[in-house]
Amino acid sequence: MSFIQLRQLTKQYKQAEQPAVDHIELEIEKGEIITLLGPSGCGKTTTLRMIAGFEQPTSGVINIGGSEVFGEKTYVPPEKREIGMVFQDYALFPHLTIEKNVVFGLNKWSTREKKARAKEVLELVGLAEYGKRYPNELSGGQQQRVALARALAPRPHVVLMDEPFSNLDAGLRERMRYDVTSILRKANTTAIIVTHDQKDAFAVSDRVVVMNQGVIQQIATPRDMYRCPKNCFVAQFVGKTNLLTGTLCSDLKHVDTYIGRVSLPTQSEKIIEDVRVSIRPEGCRLAENGRYSGKVERVTYSGEYQEVEVRLGERDLSSEPMVVYAPVEQEIEIGAVISFDIKPELVA
Ligand code: ADP
Ligand code: MG
Repeated sequence: MSFIQLRQLTKQYKQAEQPAVDHIELEIEKGEIITLLGPSGCGKTTTLRMIAGFEQPTSGVINIGGSEVFGEKTYVPPEKREIGMVFQDYALFPHLTIEKNVVFGLNKWSTREKKARAKEVLELVGLAEYGKRYPNELSGGQQQRVALARALAPRPHVVLMDEPFSNLDAGLRERMRYDVTSILRKANTTAIIVTHDQKDAFAVSDRVVVMNQGVIQQIATPRDMYRCPKNCFVAQFVGKTNLLTGTLCSDLKHVDTYIGRVSLPTQSEKIIEDVRVSIRPEGCRLAENGRYSGKVERVTYSGEYQEVEVRLGERDLSSEPMVVYAPVEQEIEIGAVISFDIKPELVA
């Protein structure tokens, strides 16, 4: 049995028309780092709060560490679920030292045990020297590591983090993605992290759960999610893509679209005629005499690559141009005709 299980978990807030969380099914293995990824309002926080016990589900079952903590006849209160929670604003106690903050949840432990555990977890998060300081004497990244140390101190079954990176600016954010995952790995902890940012999700997790409108859209490793999105929502939400409508050819390996025939990486399992294909911009390689060509409408320089909008074929002007990525060293002029090929591995 998986370490954490959500079975048909549902939350219908009173007054709301749609359930915030709608019959979700999820299994998490011990030591796994999972992210819940989706747009604002899709039910991520509600899911996390139900797992923590702060929110009462309308129906469904939650198992943690082999025991049922919520079910038809079960309700285990938050403090008995052995969960470590890291809040978005860290919620450190400003009047307590870092050391006291960290041992705050260990009320049944002896003073000696508390001291030893504080030392241990502060070492784990790289703040061994900071125990006597107060939260306002630390940087944002350090405060977050203290919050994580506090969550880990009681050796919880699982650590829950809601938008842990959203208060950090770009540079620190990248650093903290790395720090948080390496700390969780070292502590060998199971973790569920909520984020609306695809880069956060891909950088930190073993598996990503994409949600929309309370419903799980796909559960996959970052690589599989990117390469084989299950539906249009996932394809568009996870990275940039070109979504084209088309007709599946009878060999089930090609799709005819307005830009021409596009090869699929593998034979389609579906035999429906009208399909949508997702073509990643980096799957389009500029090539002289490439199979597809069109007129450049816009070029955006990102530093790492150029994002080129190309208008292909006779399509009406209200529709979107194709987006392809080109190497930065290549000169591309607006109005020029460029041609490219499409790598089937980046088609889905
Ligand atoms: P996310 O964290 O993905 O942004 P939430 O779980 O916070 O989404 O919210 C999901 C939906 O439930 C939203 O439509 C939100 O407005 C609604 N919601 C959240 N909390 C409450 C509440 N306490 N009462 C009523 N509706 C709520
Ligand atoms: Mg939220």
